[in-house]
Amino acid sequence: MTRVARPAATQIACPPSWTMTRPVVHLPDDLRHEIIDHCVAGLPNEACGLLALHGDRVVKAYPTGNSDASAVSYTVPVQEHYQALTDAESNGWRLGGVFHSHPRGSARMSSLDMERAVEPDWVYLVVGLEGEPEIRAWRLGRHVVDEIDLSS
Ligand SMILES: [Zn+2]
Repeated sequence: MTRVARPAATQIACPPSWTMTRPVVHLPDDLRHEIIDHCVAGLPNEACGLLALHGDRVVKAYPTGNSDASAVSYTVPVQEHYQALTDAESNGWRLGGVFHSHPRGSARMSSLDMERAVEPDWVYLVVGLEGEPEIRAWRLGRHVVDEIDLSS
């Protein structure tokens, strides 16, 4: 069989803006609200939880306690981490992210967050509560952490 070059007209080139865009993680609105509610309920301390992903979509949030009981740091309790992992895997999902709040700060990763972010494939959601609640997504990348676009 001979190869036939495709006519130029059928070649659709991606605009540069497409290929240069950041990766996207989908966070449905109901999960976004559940995460924010958990973080607001945890005030004045930082609140946290884990995330199950299916592909690039967050499919479940696991609000957990914060064993640091602190306004400036968080640690997901080991037992709750294990429960979330078991639940995610039994549903065919991947435990692939964590969220936590900054009670008086923005949704940017702090230097402590970057120090503690060790999972290369995880999505790190930060909930900034200094004004209107805001969620931004990060992951380990070339520049320590890279921001990921969030869509519903
Ligand atoms: Zn933080």
